[in-house]
Amino acid sequence: MNEESSGAGAPRRRYYLSTLGCPKNEVDSAKLAGRLSAAGYGEADSPGKADLVIVNTCAFIEAAREESIDTILALSAARRPGARLAVTGCLAERSGEELRAALPEVDLVAGFGQDFFSAPVAFRRRAQLPSFDLLELERPPASAPWAYVKVAEGCDRRCGFCAIPSFRGPQRSRRLDSILAEVERLDVREVVLIAQDLASYGRDRGGTRQPGEEIVRLVEAVSARTDWVRLLYLYPSALTDRLVDAICATGVPYFDLSLQHVSLPLLRRMRRFGGAEKVLERIRRIRRLEPGAALRSSFILGYPGETEEDHDRLLAFLEEADLDWAGFFTFSEEEGTYAAGLPADLRVDPSLAAARRDECAELQDAITAKKRTSLVGSTATVLACNGVEARSYREAPEIDGLIRIEGGLAPDERGRFLEVRLVAAEGPDLLAEVIS
Ligand code: SF4
Repeated sequence: MNEESSGAGAPRRRYYLSTLGCPKNEVDSAKLAGRLSAAGYGEADSPGKADLVIVNTCAFIEAAREESIDTILALSAARRPGARLAVTGCLAERSGEELRAALPEVDLVAGFGQDFFSAPVAFRRRAQLPSFDLLELERPPASAPWAYVKVAEGCDRRCGFCAIPSFRGPQRSRRLDSILAEVERLDVREVVLIAQDLASYGRDRGGTRQPGEEIVRLVEAVSARTDWVRLLYLYPSALTDRLVDAICATGVPYFDLSLQHVSLPLLRRMRRFGGAEKVLERIRRIRRLEPGAALRSSFILGYPGETEEDHDRLLAFLEEADLDWAGFFTFSEEEGTYAAGLPADLRVDPSLAAARRDECAELQDAITAKKRTSLVGSTATVLACNGVEARSYREAPEIDGLIRIEGGLAPDERGRFLEVRLVAAEGPDLLAEVIS
C-alpha cells in the first residue's frame, strides 16, 4: 500500500506528533508535519484520534532518554487500536537496535532522513526504507511570528562530553539560497538560526572564503529578509570580530555563547578552547560596541576532574561577566565519548556536581533579577506573540524570560512590533504597558 494521496478534501488519516528535546528537533518536527500534510495526513489533537503516532525523541543526556522512553510508552498506551507508532529523532538514530529489541509496541524506529510514511514498505519493522533529506524538506507555514531555521546538521568538533558528532555525523551546511528561500516562505518577523555549531556554518562547503565568512554572509542575507535575526549556540572561539559586528548590525545584539566552563585545565580536558580571560575580553568588546547587548551561556558542572578551584573560577567569572541569562547542567556520562574513557578517579560525585550547579544557578538568578530590575522605567520594542506574551531582542523564545503586556494583547497586535514601557520586574520576566 502506498500511503501518498493527493491531499484533496478532508484528510482521511491523522497523525499525532510529540516532540522532545531542543529547538533543532522542533524544526525537524515542523518539516515532518509538512511532509505528512503533503501525504494527505491531517493533524490529530490527541494521540487517541490518530492513525499514526510519532515520537521525535531526544538522546542528549540520560534524563532526556528516560523522558523519550516514558513518552513512547505513554503514547503507545493512549493510541487507539490499529494506530501505528513510529519513533524518530536522536534516540532512534543513536540506539535504534536497542529500541527495536526493547519496545515491541513500536511499529517502526526510523533514523534521520528515513521516509517512514510514504514508502510502500513503511511500518514493516526492520524494513529498509528510502531516505529523504530532512534538512532540505519543506515545512508548513509558521504558526507564530517567529520561527527556528536549521542551517546545518552535525558537528566537526569533538567536545569531550558530547556524543552528538557520533550519531549526527560531521557538519553538513545547507546552501545559502535554500535557507533564504525557506526564510522568505516562512514570512515571519523573527528568524532564529540554529545548528550544532552555528558559527562554523558553511565551513564544510569549501570555497575560498576566510574562515567565519559564510556565517557573516548568512546573517547579513537573512537580516535583509526579516525584521529580526537571532543566533543560538555560538562556539566561543568561532565568534570572530566580523561576526560580532554583523550581529550588532542586525539590531538584535543577542549573543548565545556555549561556554560549558571557563577554567582552562578543565576546558582542555573537555577538549574545548576558550578560558575566562579570553571570553571576558570578548564580552568587553561586545559591550563596547553595543552596551545593551544581551548575553546567554550554558555550563556543565561536575565534568571529570573538576576541582574546587575550577568551580571557584566559574563563580568568579559569573560575577564578572554579568550575563543576562545562563543555564547550568550536571555532567552526564555518554557512551562512546572521550569523557567516558577518562580514569574513574576523576569522577565528581553526582551530589557534589548538583550542589555546584545549584550554587551557580542561585548566583546567576540574582544577577539576572538585578539586570531585569535595572530595565524598569525604560522603553523597549517588543514582538507581540500571543496572549500576554511579548519579547524584546533580549529574550530568545522558549529559553529566556518574557515580557508580559498589562491587559493582554489585542488580536490585531499579535505578530506586530510594539513600543512598550517596562513597569515592573518579576524574576526573569518583565511587566510592560503599551505606548504605541
Ligand atoms: S560543538 Fe561540541 S558540544 Fe556542540 S555539538 Fe559539537 S561536539 Fe557537541
